[in-house]
Amino acid sequence: MKIYFRLLQYAKPIQKYIVPYVLFSILGVIFGLLNFTLLIPVFDILFNNEAVQIVVKPVFSFSVQYFKDQFYYSLQEIIAQHGKVGALYFVCIILVSTVMLSNLFKYLSQRIMENWRIHIVMELRSAIFDKIMHLHLGYFSDQRKGDLIARVTSDVSTIQGSITNSLVVFFKEPLTLIGYFAVLFSMSTQLTLFTILIIPVSGIIISRLVKKLKRYANNAQVYFGNMISLLDESLGGIRVVKAFNAIEYVKDRLKHQNYEYSKNQRRIVARQQLASPISEFLGITTIAVILIYGGALVMEQQSALSASTFIAYIILFSQVLGPAKSLTNSLGDIQHGIVSGTRVFELLDVPLGVKDKPDAIVIKEFTNELKFQNVHFSYGDKQVLKGVDLTLTKGKTIALVGPSGGGKTTISDLIPRFYDPEEGVITIDGLDIRECTQESVRALMGVVNQEAILFNDTIANNIAFGMPNATPADIEQAARVANAHQFICESENGYDTIIGDRGNKLSGGQKQRLSIARAVLRNPPILLLDEATSALDTESERLVQDALTNLMKNRTTLVIAHRLSTIQHADEILVVQKGKIIERGSHTDLLGNPDGLYHRLLRMQELQHKTE
Ligand code: ADP
Ligand code: MG
Repeated sequence: MKIYFRLLQYAKPIQKYIVPYVLFSILGVIFGLLNFTLLIPVFDILFNNEAVQIVVKPVFSFSVQYFKDQFYYSLQEIIAQHGKVGALYFVCIILVSTVMLSNLFKYLSQRIMENWRIHIVMELRSAIFDKIMHLHLGYFSDQRKGDLIARVTSDVSTIQGSITNSLVVFFKEPLTLIGYFAVLFSMSTQLTLFTILIIPVSGIIISRLVKKLKRYANNAQVYFGNMISLLDESLGGIRVVKAFNAIEYVKDRLKHQNYEYSKNQRRIVARQQLASPISEFLGITTIAVILIYGGALVMEQQSALSASTFIAYIILFSQVLGPAKSLTNSLGDIQHGIVSGTRVFELLDVPLGVKDKPDAIVIKEFTNELKFQNVHFSYGDKQVLKGVDLTLTKGKTIALVGPSGGGKTTISDLIPRFYDPEEGVITIDGLDIRECTQESVRALMGVVNQEAILFNDTIANNIAFGMPNATPADIEQAARVANAHQFICESENGYDTIIGDRGNKLSGGQKQRLSIARAVLRNPPILLLDEATSALDTESERLVQDALTNLMKNRTTLVIAHRLSTIQHADEILVVQKGKIIERGSHTDLLGNPDGLYHRLLRMQELQHKTE
C-alpha cells in the first residue's frame, strides 16, 4: 500500500485530473441513466398509457421530480400540437442526443484517466532517468545494465498497466459496491448481514492466489533484466563472440534465459487466468447459499421477507458480482504493479554515494595546487588506497606508474569526485573538494581514458560533447591540436560524419584522438590522462602521443602511463604499488636506485622493446 501512496506522488497535480474526471463521470452516468428512463415515455406513447398526465406547468425546483414532470408536460404539449408520431420523433431525438452525450462524457472521463496515467508514468520515468544520471559510479559496477534497463522499461510499463486498475479499484468499484449494498441492506438487513459473513471466505481464497502471483511477478522482472543484460553484453561484444566461435555458447545462454522467463510467464498467466473463473464460481456459490438461506426466510411462517423482494434481491445481488469480479481481477494486476513499484523505488532510493553539501561552494579556478593528504579508499570491503600523498602544482606534470591493479585509476577517479575518499582529504588550492559542488570540480578538468567513450552521433557533436555553444571553428581548432583534423577531412562527410555505435566506424587511434579533441575544446586547467595510449598500436600511439604532448603544454597534468618512455619528462614520477606510493622523484632520481621498482619496470620494457 505504501508503494501506491508513493506512486500517487507522481500523480500531481491530482485535482487537475480528478475534478474533471469525477465531473465527466457523473455526467456520463446521468445521461446514461436518462437513456433507460427515456424508454418509459416511449412505451407510454406506444401503449397509450394515460396514467401519467400533468396538465399544469410544474413549478421550478431543483429536483428529479421537477425535471420529470417538466418533460412529461412538454411531451403532452407536443402530442397536442404534432400528434403522437411527432412526439415519438421528439423522444427519439432526445434519446439519441442523450446517448451521444453520455458516450461523449464517458469518452472524456476515460481520456482524462488515460492522460493522468500517462502523466504519472512520464513523471516516474523522468525521476528514474534523473536518478540514474546522478548515481555514483560504484553502483554501475555492482549492478547489471540489463537490470537497470528492465526497471526503466518493463517495470515502468507494468506500473502503467496496474495504475488504471488501481484507480478503478480505489475510486470506482467501491462506490458502486457501497451503493448496491446500501440498497441491499434496505431490502433485508438479515440476509445482507449473512451475505457479508460469507464474503471473507472468498476473500481468503483469492488473497492466497494473489500472494503467489507476487513472487512470480518479481522473478519475471529479474529474468527479464538478465535477458537484457545478456543481450546487451553479447551485442557489445559481438566481435569477440564471433572471433572465439562462441556463438553457440551465447545462443545457449540466451535460450536458457528466454526459457526461464517464458516458464515464469506461463505460471503467472496460469494464476492470473484463474482469478476470473474462481471469482465467478465463488460468486455463484454465494448466490446459491443466499438462495437457500433467503428461501428459508421466505418460507418461514411469519415470513421476514416477501417473495417479490427476495427475487429483486437476488437480481440486484447478481449485479454486485460484476464490480466484485473486476475488483478481484484488478488485484492480480495491482500485485504486479506493487512488485514493479518496489523495484523502481529500490532504484530511486539508492543513496547517492557522492553528495553535494547543501552549502557547497562553486569552485571557479585553479590557481595553485591539487593535493592528496593521506588518502584511503576501498571498494566495499576491498581496501585499494592506503594513505596516498601527492602534490600537483599548477603547470607541472605528475606521472603515475606501476603494476596493474595498484590503484592508479582509482587515484585519478577520486579527483573529479567520482568517489569520495574514506579517510584523508583532497584539496584544490587548499579547499577540500568535498566542500565544492561536483559540477564545479569537474568543470576544472578534462579526462582522457584508456577507452575512448564516443556516441553514435556526428564527429563534431562528439567533440563538442556537453558544450552546446562551441562553434565549428573552435571544434576544428581542437581537432587540429588533437591531430585529428586530417582524418576527419578524409572521412565521408567530414565533421558531419556519423561514427556508428560507440564510434565503431573509427579505428582505435582515431577514437582516441577524438576524445583528446574533446578535452582540448573544454580547455580545462587540469588534465587527467589514464593510459590514453595503451590500447593503441605503435603507429597510432605516436600520433596520439603527439596530440597529448600538444594538449599537455602549459597545463597541469596527472598522467597514468603504461609505457614508461612517454613520461620521462614528467616533473615527478610516482610509483604506485598495492595502494601505496613506494617511490617518487624525477626520471633521473629514480634511475639512481637500481633496486627500485621503477628501475626494474624500465629494464623490463627495454627488453621487450628490443625483442619487438
Ligand atoms: P590500476 O589502474 O592501477 O590498474 P585500479 O585503480 O583500476 O588499478 O584498481 C585497483 C584495485 O581496485 C584493483 O585490485 C581492482 O580490482 C579494484 N577495483 C577497481 N575498480 C573497482 C570497482 N569498481 N569495484 C571493485 N573493485 C575495483
Ligand atoms: Mg588503470
